[in-house]
Amino acid sequence: MLVDTHCHLADAGFAEDRPEVLARAAAAGVGHVVVIGEAPEAAASALALARRDPRVSATAGVHPHVADRWDAATAAWLERQLADPAVVAAGEMGLDYHYDHAPRERQREAFAAQLALAAQAGKPAIIHAREADDDVAALLRGAPRTTAILHSFSGGDGLLEAGLALGHYFSFSGMLTFKSWRRDDAVRRIPRDRLLVETDAPYLAPVPYRGKRNEPAFVVEVARRLGEVLGLALDEVAQLTTENAQRVFGFRTQDSGLRSAT
Ligand SMILES: [Zn+2]
Repeated sequence: MLVDTHCHLADAGFAEDRPEVLARAAAAGVGHVVVIGEAPEAAASALALARRDPRVSATAGVHPHVADRWDAATAAWLERQLADPAVVAAGEMGLDYHYDHAPRERQREAFAAQLALAAQAGKPAIIHAREADDDVAALLRGAPRTTAILHSFSGGDGLLEAGLALGHYFSFSGMLTFKSWRRDDAVRRIPRDRLLVETDAPYLAPVPYRGKRNEPAFVVEVARRLGEVLGLALDEVAQLTTENAQRVFGFRTQDSGLRSAT
């Protein structure tokens, strides 16, 4: 059984066929999915999905793209969300200096505040880092009580070292299957009890689905490639990454859960 630890199933792109997407995940052996709430509206949708379906968990946070929205009311909202048992993590949050949709100073402010709220709630923080490795590493070092999940990791050695030193988790996406991927060495340096797999659906569809809408069932391709890098069989990768997901998110999953619920 596999866990897709990061997908945007609340996206409008899944409005037409969400039950079918979850059924295909079940058929592919994906027993649990973590649906990301990257802004208050998406978080409300993710939570509604989680309440309806025991195979789904939700997160709540403010993405760096919308960090401009961070204020006292949003902080109070996030604190309330993180008190809900169905919300298993804070985020996604972080820094994106590639798109710079929000001013960098505002991104850092929202990120630091959310890291603190995650630690306070005793829940992990899901981190988005793009062209901002040094500042992400600095803010993570400033929040040593927060357990972080570096999502769709493709960062440089500086962020890798910071994450390793702080004992954080690293989640790999379909980027691992791309021809342009050059970070197998980084994958091998991460302790096996800190590895996770994700799709980041609907984005980043893995080979052989590139260019299509991504979906949780395709996390199998990520796990297969992770196994190739580590010299492990697919079922070993599944067991390892599922145990890690259960530990970091604190949910239980049953192998038969997804199948019997559909
Ligand atoms: Zn995402």
